[in-house]
Amino acid sequence: MTLSRLGEFGIIERIKNVQINQSSDIHISIGDDAAVYKINSRKWSVITTDALVEGVHFDLSYTPVHSVGWKLMAINISDIAAMGGIPRNAVVSIALTKSWSAKKVDLLARGIADCCKQYSCDLIGGDTVSSVSNVFLSATVTGEVEPKCCIQRSGAKTGDLICVTGVLGRARAGLDILSSSQRKSRGEKAVNHFLYPKPRVREAQILAKEVGINAMIDISDGLASEIHHICSSSKKGCIIYGNKIPAAKELEILSYKEKKPLFFYAMKSGEEYELLFTISENNFEKLKKNKIFKNNLISVIGKISNKEDGMQLLDDDKKMSLPTSGWDHFKKNQ
Ligand code: ADP
Ligand code: MG
Repeated sequence: MTLSRLGEFGIIERIKNVQINQSSDIHISIGDDAAVYKINSRKWSVITTDALVEGVHFDLSYTPVHSVGWKLMAINISDIAAMGGIPRNAVVSIALTKSWSAKKVDLLARGIADCCKQYSCDLIGGDTVSSVSNVFLSATVTGEVEPKCCIQRSGAKTGDLICVTGVLGRARAGLDILSSSQRKSRGEKAVNHFLYPKPRVREAQILAKEVGINAMIDISDGLASEIHHICSSSKKGCIIYGNKIPAAKELEILSYKEKKPLFFYAMKSGEEYELLFTISENNFEKLKKNKIFKNNLISVIGKISNKEDGMQLLDDDKKMSLPTSGWDHFKKNQ
């Protein structure tokens, strides 16, 4: 079978099927935003790794090298946050082409350092090698989580409200503006969101520790795809209200041109690094009193249902099945 048919998640499933020897200290293995293993009864360790490949994840003709360094760390830190964890240490492997200058290396290092500093994560090692054609970057970040704050994708309960932080679609709009000849100053906020994503570590801590939530994931491949992950891990269904999805204003031109609703783009936009979580109605009352709710950072976009109800999207009064589409490295992405 070709990889384009198998897809990214089919490949991961095959790797998962051959793994053996899971120690009893491992609390969460393959299948969540990060793995978690037990240290002692008060503290568990979180670990994740993510890579960025030139030509796949970034294009240096319109992406500043500094932002690539920032992103490399941010995408990993976001996965630690999605488990309810706090980032601690990082190691970074870089494969650079011989044509790179010392100045570019400095910019990359500065981007990595700036993001690490922002999230109190220490860079403590890595590896440096050459690459024949494209630049390849990979980071591994470790963190800590209190056992009661460790939130999995699989914890959603029937009746939970489905919520999201921030606004969705800015990354898509930012990428469109950056990669086209449009005036960058028009969509500065969107461009900045795309180049410098800000993982929601603090908000995830509040949700996991002070409020109490049942399931969480960060939005790296698009809201539609992440909802599927939560529902399939939790063995649940859901209903999503299209008009409740907080869509970025910057998508308005695209939506007008292509005659599709704003939420359609917001739902598919990857690299948002917002949090998608589910919460009981009782704890939602608690959340309403919290500053992150009062600051308009949280939107309720749907409800968890039983598995038999399927995953549905409500657009005005029309019910349809929720699209599965999200970013897949091996399938044709629309
Ligand atoms: P995320 O989008 O949160 O970074 P991914 O979709 O990349 O998560 O990965 C989903 C799960 O599969 C994670 O638990 C990840 O650690 C695991 N995974 C991905 N690739 C591999 C691999 N090559 N070997 C083992 N586990 C993998
Ligand atoms: Mg993730």
